[in-house]
Amino acid sequence: MASVFSRIIAGEIPSYKVAESDNYYAFLDINPLTKGHTLVVPKQEIDYIFDIDDQTLAGMILFAKGVAAKIKREIACSRVAMVVLGMEVPHAHIHLIPIQSEKEVDFHREKLHLAPEEFQEIASKLSR
Ligand code: AMP
Repeated sequence: MASVFSRIIAGEIPSYKVAESDNYYAFLDINPLTKGHTLVVPKQEIDYIFDIDDQTLAGMILFAKGVAAKIKREIACSRVAMVVLGMEVPHAHIHLIPIQSEKEVDFHREKLHLAPEEFQEIASKLSR
């Protein structure tokens, strides 16, 4: 069965899209640690990030770099953290999290509850 992220890429499940290329897709994490928390995924469905072939993985990092630059420009933060966990969804993904301090990268913290309009506003800002 296709992963939830493959179904997002296929448009079967809605997402707040931030960026897309032939091989990669970026969208807002639905349970964000901070405003602007974004996921970057390869369109090719591979569970474990270090199983991705070298060229695709390098391209994924470069794609994430471009997305992170947009986040840094549009969201007030001191830097954009890049985190890979992959414990929940078996489709490799990079978390890009705009942060002011290290403690914001705590996946046990309660996530933000944003209204759909706010997700949409952030996605629009990051995708323009
Ligand atoms: P992990 O696999 O541990 O890196 O966590 C998966 C991440 O995907 C979590 O931060 C979830 O909030 C996020 N996530 C799961 N389903 C969706 C979805 N449908 N749209 C956006 N983000 C999602």
